[in-house]
Amino acid sequence: MKNKITILILASVIALLALSAIQTYLISNTYQLEKDAFIEETKQAISNIDDEKELDSLFSEVWGSDLRNHLSDYKNKRISKIEVVRRSKLKAENINIQYNTFYNKRLETINLGYEIKYQKSLKSIVLFQGNLVDSIFSSNSLKPLKLFGENIQNNEGSRINSSRWFSEFDYFDVQGENLISKSYDLEVKTDDMIEIKNWKHIILRRMAGLLIASLFIFLFVIGLLYYSINKLISQKKIDEVKTDFINNITHELKTPLATLSIASKTLKNKEIQNSSVAFNNTLNIVDRQSERLQKLIDQVMTNSLSSKDIVLNKEQIVDNTYFNNLIEDFKLSKQHKNVGIRNEVFMSEVLLRIDTFHFTTALLNILDNAVKYGKEDTVIIIKTEFKNNNYVIQIQDNGIGISEKQQQLIFNKFHRVIEGNVHNVKGLGLGLYYTSQIIRAHQGTIAIQSEPNVGTTFTIKIPVN
Ligand code: ADP
Repeated sequence: MKNKITILILASVIALLALSAIQTYLISNTYQLEKDAFIEETKQAISNIDDEKELDSLFSEVWGSDLRNHLSDYKNKRISKIEVVRRSKLKAENINIQYNTFYNKRLETINLGYEIKYQKSLKSIVLFQGNLVDSIFSSNSLKPLKLFGENIQNNEGSRINSSRWFSEFDYFDVQGENLISKSYDLEVKTDDMIEIKNWKHIILRRMAGLLIASLFIFLFVIGLLYYSINKLISQKKIDEVKTDFINNITHELKTPLATLSIASKTLKNKEIQNSSVAFNNTLNIVDRQSERLQKLIDQVMTNSLSSKDIVLNKEQIVDNTYFNNLIEDFKLSKQHKNVGIRNEVFMSEVLLRIDTFHFTTALLNILDNAVKYGKEDTVIIIKTEFKNNNYVIQIQDNGIGISEKQQQLIFNKFHRVIEGNVHNVKGLGLGLYYTSQIIRAHQGTIAIQSEPNVGTTFTIKIPVN
């Protein structure tokens, strides 16, 4: 059974982990899709700005004609390719204020609802003449060369567009005294990038419903699993405790029943019937055993009651008279055993209202246990005091003690620390349950302090009005 529960818990944990992994995968996929959709949405909203006449002429006419001049110088070997790019970049920087102002104005009219940065970067400049290809510039995709717009951190930006500007490029090649007109095809490739401020927050906000629902379902499944496993374990414990109880009660009933059976056979014996002494002795045995059986049944009946079922018949008593009598009676019942009792009952008189029958049985359960679970020389200290409107009773023993884990369980019905060990110390696991129910019925509390192999102290507090 224990193995089955362990396997069940393991299987549930593995299933839960698998479920969380799948859920995480699905959420990260959704996140990626949401991100793509968000960028696409932004791209659609701003796609027309770039084509507007003002921006187009700044790029292809102002910047483009400047580029042609530099290319002409390059073809006449006056400057290098690097210089062409450097000068073109400088030109772009000069007209960028104009470019940016116009772009941002148009962006404001679109009113996206979130902030974006735009950047146009240079990808390549190539000259073609028939099959001849002259590459002036080709960007390293890790570090794009910004032409227009604002600076964008490389890892924060998303490319929304790649454009290709194709035009004719004619220039005069100076060969000595002669000027020869040459014609090339000019191709300029650019990339449009955007950076959306706080895009992670915006996407997470859009996914909030999904995230909250997933978290809620996840917690719900964990809660359900925790509840089911807890229920299973407690059900298993109840089963074990019930089996222990049945074993214990069967053992307790066996002895008097066996004695009764022998006694009844003895009574049928003619010789015994003729001897009045032997006959009476056997009858006394029958009486004692039936009394023991009755006591056992009463113990199960009364000790199984909960505080709600107990009807108290309270009477007023004087504390020290009551406790001194109780201690004397207890001493008398244990006179054949090696039990020392230290009486530290409160001296001054306090009036208590208790049900003496139930209260006495409750205290005797604790005192009996101190002997049952005691060591060879049992010493019991019974101490009482009146403190903060409470009457406090402490019963301390020097017995085998109870481990911390067990301390929380011993007030449970049928719970025994020596589980199932019926031959060692007899008991039904009902004594402390009954005691705690009686104390509760008196609106009091019971607490335990114990250390294995040192001893146990029970502290009972009863409110005194
Ligand atoms: P029972 O004595 O019939 O088993 P109780 O309800 O009186 O049932 O006690 C529950 C368990 O608590 C006992 O089985 C015993 O293991 C433990 N116990 C109770 N009192 C003491 C004590 N004074 N010292 C050590 N163990 C104790």
